[in-house]
Amino acid sequence: MHCSACKRGSLVPTRLDDLFIAHRCNHCGGHWVLISDFVSWKQAHPEREFAAITALEESEDSPMALFCPVSHTLMRKLKISTDTEHRLDYSAAVGGVWLDKGEWPLLKSLGLASCLNLLVTEGWQLKLKQSQTELNFADHYRSKFGDANYQELKRIRAWLATQPNRAELRQYLLSDDPYRIKG
Ligand SMILES: [Zn+2]
Repeated sequence: MHCSACKRGSLVPTRLDDLFIAHRCNHCGGHWVLISDFVSWKQAHPEREFAAITALEESEDSPMALFCPVSHTLMRKLKISTDTEHRLDYSAAVGGVWLDKGEWPLLKSLGLASCLNLLVTEGWQLKLKQSQTELNFADHYRSKFGDANYQELKRIRAWLATQPNRAELRQYLLSDDPYRIKG
């Protein structure tokens, strides 16, 4: 197999971190991982956790869409977390993931290495979109109200939600003059 990321190296069988079967490019140092190989390894080692590393080597990210080294069709770019702009290249046709050099350490640093197989699922991708939307809303409110006001509003909202008579409390809050009988 040839590396479709750098187009110069060959993909050589290896084990990523001496753990599960993968192919490593002998030129750019990226890894090709079949999700099924990862899952088989995980099922055989359910107790294995990846220590969350912090010292991070510079991780690369191919900006362009890559071709799957097996099916030669274009791979999808999948976001992995709201904490990083890095995206995984995923070949749905083959069930394989391309990890650019440094992306595996990046997954470990984000605490996501042990769920590599989940990152490519529709469920994960949907949840991620939802979280991203929430973050966008939060940014919007923060810039609209100012950070201090936004924090205070959030505190009041959370408190209100715990009150059994919140409908009345809300009415009191929103009324122009709660001490006057509406006429
Ligand atoms: Zn390569």
